[in-house]
Amino acid sequence: MIRELSGDEVALFGEYIDKTRAFFLSTNVRPKAYVHSYGCQQNVSDGEKIKGMLAEMGYDFTDTPDNVDLILLNTCAVRENAEDKVFGNIGAFKKLKESNRRLIIAVGGCMVQQQHIAEKLKASYPMVDIIFGTHTVHELPRMLYDKLTKNLGCVNIPDGDGVLTESIPVRRDNAIKAYVPIMYGCNNFCTYCVVPYVRGRERSRKADAVVSEVKELIQQGYKEILLLGQNVNSYGKEHGIGFAELLRRLDAIEGEYKISFMTSHPKDCTRELIDVIADSAHIEHHIHLPVQSGSDRILKAMNRSYTTEHYLGLVEYAKSRIPDLSLTTDIIVGFPGETYEDFRQTVKLMETVRYDMAYTFIYSKREGTKAADMDDPVSDKEKGLWMRELLEVQGDIGLENYRKYIGKILDVLCEGRDKNKPEYLTGHSRQNIIVRFAGGDELVGSFVKVKITKAMPWAVEGETVGDTD
Ligand code: SAH
Ligand code: SF4
Repeated sequence: MIRELSGDEVALFGEYIDKTRAFFLSTNVRPKAYVHSYGCQQNVSDGEKIKGMLAEMGYDFTDTPDNVDLILLNTCAVRENAEDKVFGNIGAFKKLKESNRRLIIAVGGCMVQQQHIAEKLKASYPMVDIIFGTHTVHELPRMLYDKLTKNLGCVNIPDGDGVLTESIPVRRDNAIKAYVPIMYGCNNFCTYCVVPYVRGRERSRKADAVVSEVKELIQQGYKEILLLGQNVNSYGKEHGIGFAELLRRLDAIEGEYKISFMTSHPKDCTRELIDVIADSAHIEHHIHLPVQSGSDRILKAMNRSYTTEHYLGLVEYAKSRIPDLSLTTDIIVGFPGETYEDFRQTVKLMETVRYDMAYTFIYSKREGTKAADMDDPVSDKEKGLWMRELLEVQGDIGLENYRKYIGKILDVLCEGRDKNKPEYLTGHSRQNIIVRFAGGDELVGSFVKVKITKAMPWAVEGETVGDTD
């Protein structure tokens, strides 16, 4: 059920922010926080809300966990290695806690929303003071205040779907690209996936709230609006305004900006949505459309609720309506019961679709999911070999796709200096392809026309050209 914070809850939330700020002022402390978000962009977006609250409480931020008053880890549960990383990091914070009695350690997010993980943390990681799930982010001010003033730690992971919290301030990490979550949760229960258990059922923000936030962001000078949701295109079912209509309304906002979105579920990727993208002025010509497998037998076992025929039909329609469309995907290798023949069908599908990029994952068993009880006879070593095979095929396809851009001019949103090659600027094209080019800092934050001269496996390179319009 969708529930928005009540007026009283919003008032209480504001009260605890004020009380915590006053507490720091009275003790003459300018507190410092290290906040780290693992995993998907939704988590990064939650992290921006967490930082927004902390900033209002008086915290400054640092990039390292040394000499801080608060370490806050916003965790991910989607695969086991993400969880292992978090346990490793928390273990390493023990020393920091011993040498700094003021330090508060808080762990929140998807991983700790799982009961067995919260219990393990409580039992074996006494240095953690605050454990909070995905539905109680807005209670962080109270949890921190209680710890600071009464030395009260807590484990706060209620079940349920959480509340929609329009009132949380956001401290955006990026001055060019703004993350805008439009829906939360998932109803799909793919048999391998923990997300529905840790994020609750689907709930969408009201279209008016999204449109006015996006308008404001564009007025503030943001150049890319990334709409977020576990199944972003399942948006709005409870409001009677679907994702295609929301995009239409957003595209009508005046200004120089682009709209991107992720992640789309194939079952909700309608022809209407593809038409809206094709006819839009601002929407990226890119769809991230996770297929997960090219075998209908495995798709059924995964409970993905589409067939490869349906998926390929969508791809064909999208390519015909948007000739410069870039398609990317997620693929799971080694789902329980998958055979080499099933896997080869995935390779075949990749060769048919010709994705620009594929995010590939070896199946990871998640406690509480249906797939965790399925027979999984193929060894990790074997799955690793399949994965390598897949990566080789995709690497060749991606490079061939990118080579087709050589000689063409792409519209690129310049996002800053390339981290590995600072002599270059970098940005994404309207197809969401990474483009590297030479130029001065004055181009950062603007749309630049770049003529492509070279293709690499994950990016293209080019030279700026004058306005060709
Ligand atoms: N809602 C999105 C994706 C969410 S999770 C969708 O349905 O596409 C991001 C990706 O992680 C998934 O697309 C899937 O490829 C991968 N993933 C999720 N659970 C996994 C698991 N148990 N093992 C391996 N990969 C997994
Ligand atoms: Fe997980 Fe499937 Fe929901 Fe995506 S659609 S979040 S893969 S359950």
